[in-house]
Formats: sequence, structure tokens, C-alpha cells
Amino acid sequence: MEYFEVGTKKDILYWSKRLYQKGMTPSTSGNISVRTKDGILISASGVCLNDMDEDDIVLIDFDGNVLDGKKKPSSEKFLHTQIYDLRDDINAIIHSHCPYITAFACSNRIMQEPIMAEFVLYFNKIPIAKYHLPSSMQLAIETVEYFKISDTVLMQNHGVVSGADTLQEVFYTLESLRAYSETYFGTQVLGGAKKLSRKHIKEIMSLKK
Ligand SMILES: [Zn+2]
Repeated sequence: MEYFEVGTKKDILYWSKRLYQKGMTPSTSGNISVRTKDGILISASGVCLNDMDEDDIVLIDFDGNVLDGKKKPSSEKFLHTQIYDLRDDINAIIHSHCPYITAFACSNRIMQEPIMAEFVLYFNKIPIAKYHLPSSMQLAIETVEYFKISDTVLMQNHGVVSGADTLQEVFYTLESLRAYSETYFGTQVLGGAKKLSRKHIKEIMSLKK
């Protein structure tokens, strides 16, 4: 794996490419940030995550003001600042319009079907925050409420946002959720999934101990 220090511009560029190449951030959608000792490093507005360079990453403070960089920060900057404000344990955030995951958000479907042991063990349930205008403070406030109970939140008619200590962890979370979503859609074509029983779910949960 490429060497870079976690929480740097290089860290952001590496995972941005991985996100785009996995189809998680089509076109110029999606945004990505890390918390640093000086503020928040966040992708600029309107850039494709696959084509960014270091100049497309802006340093902002926790109110969303630009501290360093010539570009305009992501229009969803308040989503990021509000999450960092609430959760001291989150140091990296990715917002994605991954079509498979977003399909759940657009159908107003909480991800909670116990059809895969891995999903039950690691996620169990991904809540949905109510729709508000993209980029608005209301959207940030509404979505952040769910970060009191979850590290990942679907955003109705919009996408998904997830946070963790590092971008690598957030990427793996989104990749797992995408795999779950694709599997779910596959089962619909095949006539519907067989759900895990309560007994099976209990056994799976015991693996956590
Ligand atoms: Zn968005």
C-alpha cells in the first residue's frame, strides 16, 4: 500500500481515488475530510474526487471559514463541521452518492434486513435522516442528530455520510454497505432473500463478545 501519513492531503487524495474508482462518488458528487490539529481539511466544491490534486483540498475552521487554500470548500462543509463538533472520536468523514446505497435513501428504506451475517454483525441498522436542501445547515443539523446513535447515516433522497477515526475505516464501511446493497438487490431479482432467524441473529451477535 502507498505510504502516506493519516490525516493529510495525501491521505485524502489516496482514498478519494479509491472512492471514485469503486463508483462511490460518480462525477463531481461526494466530499471527503479529515480533522487535523489546525482545522478540517476538506475537498473543494465541484471537483471530481478522482481528478483532485492538493490544491483542491481546503483547510477550514469548525465554523466553515477558509483558513488556507484558494478554492471554495465543499458545499456540504456544515455536514462535516457539525459531525466533528458532536463526535470527538470521529477524525475522518466521507459523504457519498453511491447509487446502490443511495437507492435505499431514495426509497426511504432503513438498511436493516438481516440477510447477511456480516451486515448483522457490523451494522445491524443504518438510519435515515429526513430530507433537507443539500448544502443547508438544516440538512447538517438533521443528519448529525443520528450520529448520536450511528457512525453512518442515510440522507433521504440524497446519499449517505459516514465517519470513523481514519479514512481507511470509513472507506471499508462504505464498501461493505455497498456490497450489502448490491447483494440485497440481487436477492430481489432471485425472488427475495431468506432472512436470518432470531436464533441465528443472537448467535451472530455473540461473536462480538
Ligand atoms: Zn451530496
